[in-house]
Amino acid sequence: KKITIAIDGFSSTGKSTLAKELAKELGYVYVDTGAMYRAVTFFAMKSGYIAKDFFEVQLLINSLKIIKLEFKFNPELGFAEMYLNDVNIEKEIRTLEVSSYVSKVAEISQVRAKLVEQQQEMGKNKGIVMDGRDIGTVVFPDADLKIFMTASPLTRAERRFKELTRNGDTVTFEAVLKNVQERDYIDTHREDSPLVKANDAIEFDNSNITKQEQFLKIMKLIKS
Ligand code: C5P
Repeated sequence: KKITIAIDGFSSTGKSTLAKELAKELGYVYVDTGAMYRAVTFFAMKSGYIAKDFFEVQLLINSLKIIKLEFKFNPELGFAEMYLNDVNIEKEIRTLEVSSYVSKVAEISQVRAKLVEQQQEMGKNKGIVMDGRDIGTVVFPDADLKIFMTASPLTRAERRFKELTRNGDTVTFEAVLKNVQERDYIDTHREDSPLVKANDAIEFDNSNITKQEQFLKIMKLIKS
């Protein structure tokens, strides 16, 4: 029987790596909800609504109806890529610049309402692994399995730093660590759907275990 798996946690705790592996193993659909918040942020940047020293929140809210988000599966990569109004923006949304604004965009209730609705629609059929910050609490409070991932800020910043430099971004480790900490703060302190562990979520601290060990542990849980 197919189930719904919700994976939440702080930034760069390895949520998406785990979610992708589970989806592949189980033949499920994987949905990266962070990509959707990043896509809206990218739209706001491109439209000139957000930059270092300003954020035209109302203009972004007014534009929400013309933002179309889609995931299209790329068989070569083995996962779905993010499309904004029919344009592939998978690379563009992974920069540190997008990361530096995204939590501010994710604070806006109207943005959350639009994305949560689309996420719930995508999850209508079971056989889905969704990762984010509010999946087990808001999007799918009835999910069959909820996992809450944590890891030390240093471990997480190291992971994100490697990822960004691999993609050719020139960033300093300090800037990445600062961004991870800032996003944690905003994500846990916002009024609408703050990041919290769902009561019935299983917590995983993966600072000191390998990806493989973690994957096997969780597969065991699913089978039990
Ligand atoms: O998962 P990722 O790090 O790509 O998410 C980027 C940002 O999007 C998070 O820091 C958070 O502010 C926001 N987000 C959210 N709710 C989700 C997924 C992401 O608020 N379900």
